[in-house]
Amino acid sequence: MEHSPFHYSRLLPIAPTDILTMHLNLLTLTRGVQAGVQIRPRWPARHVRVDARVLGKLQAIQAELPAQINLILTRGYEPQASSLGFARRRFRALGIGVFRLLYPARCDELADIFGSNGHDVDGTHIDVSFGLNGRRVRMLPLGVFTLPFWQRRRVRRCASALAELHAALIRQGFQIHRNATESLQIHCDLVH
Ligand SMILES: [Zn+2]
Repeated sequence: MEHSPFHYSRLLPIAPTDILTMHLNLLTLTRGVQAGVQIRPRWPARHVRVDARVLGKLQAIQAELPAQINLILTRGYEPQASSLGFARRRFRALGIGVFRLLYPARCDELADIFGSNGHDVDGTHIDVSFGLNGRRVRMLPLGVFTLPFWQRRRVRRCASALAELHAALIRQGFQIHRNATESLQIHCDLVH
C-alpha cells in the first residue's frame, strides 16, 4: 500500500487536482467573435488562450467603448514547451539580430521588445489591437521594426481611439507595457 501511485502523488509539491484547477481557468479562443470580443490569433497561432477573468474584463471593456471602436485580442498564453513557443523563440532570435542592425542605439529596448513578457507564464498577459469603424488599425505596420517616427505619426492620427482604449484597459485592471513600441503592440498584463 505504501508504494501505491496514490501515496506518491500526495508527496508532489502540486497535487494533480491543483494542476487541473489551474488549467480550468484557461480558455482557448478560436478566430472570430467570442463572447462579444473579436479574436484574431497572431500568426502562426491558430487560437488565443487566456485566463477566464481576462475574457470577462475584455467583454466589459468592449461594452464601455464607443460603438466605432472594437477591441481585438491577438495573443495570450503560449507555453514554452509548445510548438508555438518554439516558433516564437526562433522568430525572436532572428528579430533581435535584425533589430540590432536597424536600431543600434536601441539595444536597451531589446529585453522589453523581445522578452516573452509573461506570455509563457499564464493567461493574464495579453496583446490586443483595435478596429475603427470596422477596419483594423495597424499601429505597427512593420511590427516592432516600424520606425519610431512612423509610430508617432500613427499615434497622432488615432490618438483619441488609442487613449480611450488605454484608459478602458487601465480601468479594468490592466497595466500597459512601459515600452513605447510594446504599448502599441498593445501588450498589457492583468494586475488586479
Ligand atoms: Zn505581448
